[in-house]
Amino acid sequence: MAAKPIGMIQFDNLEIAFRYKSDRELKFAYWLFRMVGNPKIVLLGKKITCLALKLHLPISWLIKPTIYRHFCGGETIEECMKVSRNMEKYGVKCILDYSVEGKDSPEDIQAALEETLRTIRNAGKNRNIPFTVFKPTAFTLEHILEKGSLNELNTDEEKAEAQRFRDRVNTLCKAAYEENVPIMVDAEDVRFQVMIDQVVTGMMEKYNKEKAIVYNTLQMYRTDRLDFLKQAWQKAIDGNYYLGIKFVRGAYMERERARALKYGYPSPINPDKPTTDSMYNDGLRFTVDHLDRVSVFNGTHNEDSNRLLTELMEQKGLAKNEPKIWFSQLFGMSDHVSFNLAAAGYNVAKYLPYGPVRHVLPYLIRRAEENTAVAGQSNRELQMAREEYRRRKER
Ligand SMILES: Cc1cc2nc3c(=O)[nH]c(=O)nc-3n(C[C@H](O)[C@H](O)[C@H](O)COP(=O)(O)OP(=O)(O)OC[C@H]3O[C@@H](n4cnc5c(N)ncnc54)[C@H](O)[C@@H]3O)c2cc1C
Repeated sequence: MAAKPIGMIQFDNLEIAFRYKSDRELKFAYWLFRMVGNPKIVLLGKKITCLALKLHLPISWLIKPTIYRHFCGGETIEECMKVSRNMEKYGVKCILDYSVEGKDSPEDIQAALEETLRTIRNAGKNRNIPFTVFKPTAFTLEHILEKGSLNELNTDEEKAEAQRFRDRVNTLCKAAYEENVPIMVDAEDVRFQVMIDQVVTGMMEKYNKEKAIVYNTLQMYRTDRLDFLKQAWQKAIDGNYYLGIKFVRGAYMERERARALKYGYPSPINPDKPTTDSMYNDGLRFTVDHLDRVSVFNGTHNEDSNRLLTELMEQKGLAKNEPKIWFSQLFGMSDHVSFNLAAAGYNVAKYLPYGPVRHVLPYLIRRAEENTAVAGQSNRELQMAREEYRRRKER
């Protein structure tokens, strides 16, 4: 392997990567990534879980001490705060992500709103929670986002529900503004995104006058997002507000492609991984070139994209803890990236999903599938956990 130039960020210090984990937790991580690395086990686990949910069988006893504990902070904000305090000892901060999905009764939506407001107030009080976040689909019905994106909201009830969605998003962004904590809006399916982009842009115009409080998410696996970024930047200049951008590659590639095929429209997803990688990295380059107007949140486990951002910062002579630049990975994944970046002085915050076990299952299934699907990902996590466990035993 070629030697890395001096000064380049290194992600291979496993002692730093895992020092917040006990031996037991480390051993468990190894075991877990062995399991999720096997597509047959993941498929079987998914089927059993879906069946158990349908039949209302109790499954928390099995999920909570295992996969849930590895990828989630707990069922409540208080449980997450313990995890957060442990990570903060090593300079890694947390973003509490209330990850309840697929619940859409008015009562569920109201409950999600109140819980998300609690996360915002909690972040306002805690230095180690630098951002807040929400999923737009938690705050309305999917068909409203879809029809709103197609400009096909026809009935009075549809229009009224669309307005309630805008009001809920405004309630959250206003609370974030008042608490002076940035709030990020996750990106989901492409078919919802036109309406989400419109609403989030409106929130930026309103609350980002002094700095980026509201952040939109760009999924760079989409063919159109680099152009969208440049247009959003121009709009921010014209409207005299700041732009907050969270970059991700995108989590729903298979279903986006399948949908495009089914309905016979061109796939919105880049043709291959190198194209996504290069668009992602071009997005980072563009934002670092325009930091006077844009704040950037780098949501990726990809070592090259994380390294690139550190290099761009160095080229511009920026401090490692430049407040407009944050790095982020998901809790339970890529600790070698998060903890080594934090140890080197960069701003790092991990997404810490939480919520009742049954309700975060879709999130957990995605993580298990991602670790199976992404080539080498679970294998890499597995090898690192094993290597560090061995190192500790040999001490
Ligand atoms: C902090 C954080 C927040 C996140 N928030 C969101 C969110 O709001 N919305 C969301 O959708 N996802 C979100 N994700 C998940 C993210 O989109 C990715 O699925 C995940 O992080 C894997 O991408 P990567 O950059 O980490 O790693 P990599 O392994 O480098 O990239 C894998 C990704 O590359 C893309 N890709 C893979 N193969 C191809 C191909 N053949 N053609 C084109 N593209 C391909 C896919 O997007 C795939 O997920 C978030 C991730 C993080 C770390």
